[in-house]
This record gives sequence, C-alpha cells and structure tokens, in this order.
Amino acid sequence: MFDCIGARDAYDDRGMDRNGISKHRKSLSVRAERAFGLESAVTISGQKPGLSASSPAAKTEAATALAREAATPALALNTVAPARVVARQVVVNLSEQSPLVPACALPLGFDAVPFAAPILPADEKRIVLQQLDATEVKACPKCRLCETRTNTVFGEGDVDAKIFFIGEGPGESEDLSGRPFVGRAGQLLTKMIEAMGLRREQVFIANIVKCRPPGNREPAPDEVAACTPYLLRQLEVVRPKVIVTLGKPSTQYMLRSKEAMGKMRGRWHEWRGIKLMPTYHPSYVLRSYTAEVRRTVWNDLQMVLSELGLPLPKRGEQ
Ligand code: SF4
Repeated sequence: MFDCIGARDAYDDRGMDRNGISKHRKSLSVRAERAFGLESAVTISGQKPGLSASSPAAKTEAATALAREAATPALALNTVAPARVVARQVVVNLSEQSPLVPACALPLGFDAVPFAAPILPADEKRIVLQQLDATEVKACPKCRLCETRTNTVFGEGDVDAKIFFIGEGPGESEDLSGRPFVGRAGQLLTKMIEAMGLRREQVFIANIVKCRPPGNREPAPDEVAACTPYLLRQLEVVRPKVIVTLGKPSTQYMLRSKEAMGKMRGRWHEWRGIKLMPTYHPSYVLRSYTAEVRRTVWNDLQMVLSELGLPLPKRGEQ
C-alpha cells in the first residue's frame, strides 16, 4: 500500500521518538509553506470534525432497498485460480453489480449505500482498472468529447490509496499526455500532496470526465452523465478512506448539490460510506493566488490528514 519508509512513518508515527515526530512535522511544515506560499502554515484546531452529511428522508427508502439487494456478495473470488482468471471473474461480477449505465439513470439514493462488493487485493485491483481503461475508456465513444480528444485520461495512482482526488476534466497538457493533473494546476496539486507528507504516487487522481472539454470549458451535464460510471467503477475498486473533490463540478456531481463551493468546502460529507472533503480546484488557487485562498485549501487538507490520523505539520514545533 504505502510501501516506502517515509510513507509508513507518515501513516504511523507511534514508533518514532519525540524528536523524530518533531523533525518530521517541521519538515512537513516547510513543505506546506513551499506548496502554498504561506508565511505561516495555519493548523486547524484539535477538534475532530464530525460528519455533517445530510441524509434526505427522500433517499432513505431507496437506500434501504438497495442495501437489501447488496446483501448478496457480488464477488466470488477463487483463491486457487490464477490471478488473471480471478480478475476476469472480478470484472464480470463488478460489471454485473455496477453496470456502466449513465449516472443520471442510477436510482435515487444509490450514493448513500456503501459498496457491497468485497475490497480486492491490490494486484486484482490493478488488473481490473487496467482492463477498464484498455477495453472501455480508451476507445469510448459515449459522448461528443471523443471527437476532439487527443488521448483519454483515465487517472492514475496507488490502487490502495487512502485518498482519492477528483477533478473536473483534462486540460490541454493532460489531453496531450494522457495523464491527469500534469499542467500548472497539476504541479500545484502535486505540491499540495507533498505538503501533506505524501508522494503523488500514494494517492489516486482522476476526473469526472476522461476527455478534454474543448477550450477547458466545464463538462456539460450529458457528458458528465455519460462518463461518471467510469469514475464510480474506479472508486468501487480503489475504495479510498477519503475522497477530496477539487472544485465545483466534481463536488456538485458527487454530492448531487447545487450549493456554492464556499458552502460545501471545509466540512465533511459522506458518499457511499466514504468521507468526502470538498476543496477549491488548484486552477482556482492559481487564479486567486491570495494568502486567504491558499490557507483555506490548506485547512481543508489538514482536516483530511486529521481524519486519517496523519501528523499535522506545525510551524516551530521542536
Ligand atoms: S468523456 Fe467519458 S463518456 Fe465522453 S467520450 Fe470521453 S471517456 Fe467516453
């Protein structure tokens, strides 16, 4: 999962002595300042945020029915069979459980029901995601964005990632390279991740649409509806502990909300049993490069660190 020594330290500092923890936090603090250009890395209070996810009564009945359906395990893993055979079976079973139907056709309340399928071992996750990309996304013709793309941008990262970042859609650099978040905004996202004490390869990064909307416009609702079943499959396979939505389109899609970013960010929501933290998109941070915006994003990310039990960078701690 997080297999380098630094990452293990980041996720579990109980084995470190007091000086070790202090040095680690101080180095995170320096990285935070470099990433955000803040004079001082402001830390959130020690209060652990509670979930404020709304569960509209209208969703309850549908959610209960779905939960009943979900009681039957979907994946029958055969531990004796070769990994590729198992993975093919997993693909078939995942497809049966989560068909790639337009997101708009999913039943009301599906996003309140936790995934029923068991979490796959990492090697099987990798194969399932590679097959999804190779056999479905790369040649996808499901919306008009296929006509103008250079490459599809599936997403990348650790298949066992605890944090799953969701952006809006590929930009020019991403369209040319086939990789998510590699332009200026992507470079800032990478700095933000490093400021959290992680490496980019330790998280998963994807978008709500896999092809570039021309002129970097927001993806249209029918494009989002056509494409998001791929994202839902990625989330089902990776099964992160925390989702961080970057910007309004991905936040509004995941939360089925029309609220402004200012009202949604900075507090916990829940999506299929997974905690979700909205924050501003790095491209917005670049456009509005004020200390206040940078501090706001950093506070959101510190809430994610706190939720995952990761050390919070503190300036000046000895
Ligand atoms: S944006 Fe998504 S649905 Fe549309 S063509 Fe690309 S991969 Fe297919």
